[in-house]
Amino acid sequence: MGSIALEKVAKRFGKVEVIPQIDLEIEDGEFVVFVGPSGCGKSTLLRMIAGLEDLSGGAIRISGKDISALPPGDRGLAMVFQSYALYPHLTVAENMMFPLRMAKIDKAVAEEKVLKAAEALNLIDYLGRKPSELSGGQRQRVAIGRAIVREPAAFLFDEPLSNLDAALRVNMRLEISELHERLKTTMIYVTHDQVEAMTMADRIVVLQRGNIEQVGTPLTLYNTPANRFVAEFIGSPK
Ligand code: ADP
Ligand code: MG
Repeated sequence: MGSIALEKVAKRFGKVEVIPQIDLEIEDGEFVVFVGPSGCGKSTLLRMIAGLEDLSGGAIRISGKDISALPPGDRGLAMVFQSYALYPHLTVAENMMFPLRMAKIDKAVAEEKVLKAAEALNLIDYLGRKPSELSGGQRQRVAIGRAIVREPAAFLFDEPLSNLDAALRVNMRLEISELHERLKTTMIYVTHDQVEAMTMADRIVVLQRGNIEQVGTPLTLYNTPANRFVAEFIGSPK
């Protein structure tokens, strides 16, 4: 469990300023969605939190501790991407076990954690299957399961459903929301899809060109958009 604080976080790629300066506090257990058009800096921001990109300025704190200089593996965060990146030659159980084996966790303890995660994700009947024998949605659940077993301080999702068809996407949205209800772990979810943002978020962060346009609950954004960009993006009545 953990709160996440971004303090004057900035990012440049060479001379290009992608994120001028962002301040944001995410409470322990919150489900926060970063939403905005393609290229606005959502992935870059998430990757900085995960430790996959250096900061050009500012700091990131998890539960008060500055983790800006820590390598990704030491931040206690789990990142779920849109590409599943499962090991094709390993079973579902072995895929979920993998990070625990790497961390040299006791086998019996690891098996217990995998079973618990499989239960939470309705994967109990699929533990012996290979990824090629699963549907897209089931594969995505295994990818999430592999993150859950490490009991991260927070989950970071970067458009995890964009490879799925529309019907499955609606299903997975519900599943991820239910998972948040059950685990009550902090989650940051990146999407360019307003509907996803409005249906899943406790709070939405609307981004445009690396700046925060507004932060608020879905209802607040809908009823009292801060500006025209937010209103049009969220689809508020004019
Ligand atoms: P989003 O995820 O919101 O679509 P990104 O965070 O991927 O946006 O990208 C934000 C901006 O930063 C874009 O203009 C993109 O071209 C640029 N950018 C992202 N990664 C790099 C990189 N490694 N080098 C140079 N520019 C990058
Ligand atoms: Mg992106």
